Amino acid sequence: MSQRNAADTIVAAATPPGRGGVAIVRVSGAEVPRLAHELLGALPVPRHATFTRWHDAAGTLIDSGIALYFPAPNSFTGEHVLELQGHGGALIVEALIERLTQLGARRAQPGEFTQRAFLNDKIDLAQAEAIADLIDAGSRSAAQAAMRSLQGEFSRQVHATREALTALRVYIEAAIDFPEEEIDFLGSQELRERLAFVQQLMNQVLEAARRGARLTRGMTVVIAGRPNAGKSTLMNRLLGHEAAIVTPVAGTTRDLLREQLEIGGVPVELIDTAGLRDSTSDAIEAEGMRRARDALGRADHILYVVDAVADPLARSFDEERAALPPGVPVTLLLNKSDLSEQGGAASASDTGAVPRLRISAATGQGVDALRTHLIAVAGHTESAGGTFSARARHVEALERAQQQLATASAKLEAKQGELAAFELRGAQASLGEVLGDVTSDELLGRIFGSFCIGK
Ligand code: GDP
Repeated sequence: MSQRNAADTIVAAATPPGRGGVAIVRVSGAEVPRLAHELLGALPVPRHATFTRWHDAAGTLIDSGIALYFPAPNSFTGEHVLELQGHGGALIVEALIERLTQLGARRAQPGEFTQRAFLNDKIDLAQAEAIADLIDAGSRSAAQAAMRSLQGEFSRQVHATREALTALRVYIEAAIDFPEEEIDFLGSQELRERLAFVQQLMNQVLEAARRGARLTRGMTVVIAGRPNAGKSTLMNRLLGHEAAIVTPVAGTTRDLLREQLEIGGVPVELIDTAGLRDSTSDAIEAEGMRRARDALGRADHILYVVDAVADPLARSFDEERAALPPGVPVTLLLNKSDLSEQGGAASASDTGAVPRLRISAATGQGVDALRTHLIAVAGHTESAGGTFSARARHVEALERAQQQLATASAKLEAKQGELAAFELRGAQASLGEVLGDVTSDELLGRIFGSFCIGK
């Protein structure tokens, strides 16, 4: 990352390109006091709005406006920062940036201001990512969740888990140093309880991170079921327009149909699949089914549609169930309720934990209840006010930590203290990844490279 040399003083427009009332150019780095003297004639009083004039190398006035100086370390980046608020014209901004580069500043890379805030311990990595998520938020609730992460809500929970874990490690490693007492100690109730406590904290933060990740990137919902169950009709109903072709001929939808929509503030990618049936002689339909299975494996939620007239006991679902990907939650929809008033759901017993809803994709009956249900499964209910934003990267690290705790627990039961301690160390490192305690340049490049320039 040579072009990201942290010793350079960097400059970029902090406001979006184009015309606007005001444009802000931001400069950060050790050279800011010198640049301010040369451009403004003096260093502005810290944190005071100072009216100044800006000239180019030939002495021609570029613009005039407010200068704000934030001395290190009390700034966003932790370095000296100068903000220049001028008129919002693209040419003015460019001329000002050019002047500052002539004076010695370098144009910033995407996310470089935030990266410096991270490198100077102003924020941890999860908070830095929350800034990008806040800027990119596609819904109000996603923005609120990102704000909570930025305020440190997520990081605090990870820290708390890590502290409990550290205490446990100290406890176990001390015992390992006294081998004559180790065996008794490793089987002790106290130790079990402490580990169980750490596991409980870990489960909570992982569950919250999963919810947050769904909210940040939205949720993928796949509609599956036998041909003619009414999948395409449901797709169109949820979208509010006709995207999918509906015909009474089975096997009409052969490829995946993807549409974006928002349900109660949650961004949802809705995928309609080719009907699942055991065998077909049609090669294109067979390929459609293969893609359908693939999509199911990646789904956050499956809506399994059954034709409640043809299949009132939802036997097709029972037959299909074993072939559905494990771990992806399913809701069973008994469709065509307009034609099956007294049959269907009443007799369909609630076996297993699969929630079922009676709907009519054709008339819309029950579809509002389905929407409410989807919002709830997205973890996005009114009571989920504490949701914070998170990313797949966090979920993966936390899942790894959870697994390492499970292994540690098994090793303790087997009285293998050293191995348990090793797993606990691993779990601690996994938690550290979330906060960015140990990071590679490649990871940082990936994270900050996806920011916009000027942030
Ligand atoms: P897909 O093959 O699962 O996508 O099923 P379609 O959406 O193409 O629907 C198959 C047939 O069932 C079409 O004739 C639809 O009009 C009809 N259909 C779908 N949903 C309903 C419903 O809720 N009630 C009634 N009466 N007909 C429906």
